[in-house]
Amino acid sequence: MITNTDLPCDRPRRILLIENSEFDRRWLRARLASDSVHVLDVEDGAKGLMICHDEPPDLILLNLGPPLCEGFDTLRALKEQPHTRHVPVIVVSASAGTADIVQGLDAGAVDYVTKPYDLVELQARIRVALRTKRFQELLERRAHLDGLTGLANRMAMEERLATEWGLFQRHGGSLALWVADLDDFKRINDRYGHSTGDQVLRHTAAILRSSVRSTDMAARYGGEEFVVIAPHCPILGAFRTAERFRQRLASSPIVLDRVSITATISIGVSAVPEGAVDSPAKLLSLADRALYLAKAQGRNKVLFAGLVKPHDEPALDGWILTQTRA
Ligand code: GH3
Ligand code: MG
Ligand code: MG
Repeated sequence: MITNTDLPCDRPRRILLIENSEFDRRWLRARLASDSVHVLDVEDGAKGLMICHDEPPDLILLNLGPPLCEGFDTLRALKEQPHTRHVPVIVVSASAGTADIVQGLDAGAVDYVTKPYDLVELQARIRVALRTKRFQELLERRAHLDGLTGLANRMAMEERLATEWGLFQRHGGSLALWVADLDDFKRINDRYGHSTGDQVLRHTAAILRSSVRSTDMAARYGGEEFVVIAPHCPILGAFRTAERFRQRLASSPIVLDRVSITATISIGVSAVPEGAVDSPAKLLSLADRALYLAKAQGRNKVLFAGLVKPHDEPALDGWILTQTRA
């Protein structure tokens, strides 16, 4: 039995056994499974790859052969596919030859255990692999977070936008995006100091996080700029949410050392299909241009860019930019 008390985790770990002997599968499954470790097993590589496609496990125990070449093919396929590339694979094999061990490790296995093995030792090796995987996950999560506000950072936002763009192209529907920039933020820094400026950024991020849906992504794009990605959201819905956030921020002063600071924000919103743009970069730049115009029109305002022209509003290079207030 494996437990993962030494690697606190919010969900049970999943181990996939790819092993052609039914006896070995049953024997190992009974010894590895616990409340915190779920074990799945399949008899060949093809089935293993199929399971991984649906939901990649946290660790794969791959029996190599016979024939050896089939096991190596599975290992190579696991390391080539993007959704399984980062899943650690421990090879278990009856072959103790140096050439096979080297080939297995060079093909991407994190460990190579020869049969017959000591169960206690195998369990310890599995714990090491799971621990390393957990550290990798923590590092990856941290690499996608903005340290000051706890929101997603620019890299995470760009990755998510590319993913949502792909889904929009495949399945249609709608995808909205807003770019928000705090107004006269330099003045807040100059007047109250940089650390107060940081508190205002955190305050803004907290209001932003609670203003959007859990399926939306709110990110700090950089400095005092924020981006929201709202999948399946038509432009009017995104516009209304952005407007609600703008109003909440403008009516929620932050009180620090008996000083009350009210921050305001300007927002540009764009969406497909309304925006009729052909790349995520253009969707972003369209929202950015709407934001630029919101600033030019006096700040503390939301503008959205689209093809619909409900009122007699100003046009920008063929785009209709509609104001928050009539
Ligand atoms: P506008 O309304 O046109 O957006 O004016 P602004 O003053 O907000 O814009 P500007 O680009 O002139 O200034 C942005 C300021 O944001 C300048 C920079 O020092 C500050 N800033 C950027 N990142 C941080 C940060 O992490 N913490 C703090 N406190 N300030 C930051
Ligand atoms: Mg800015
Ligand atoms: Mg600003």
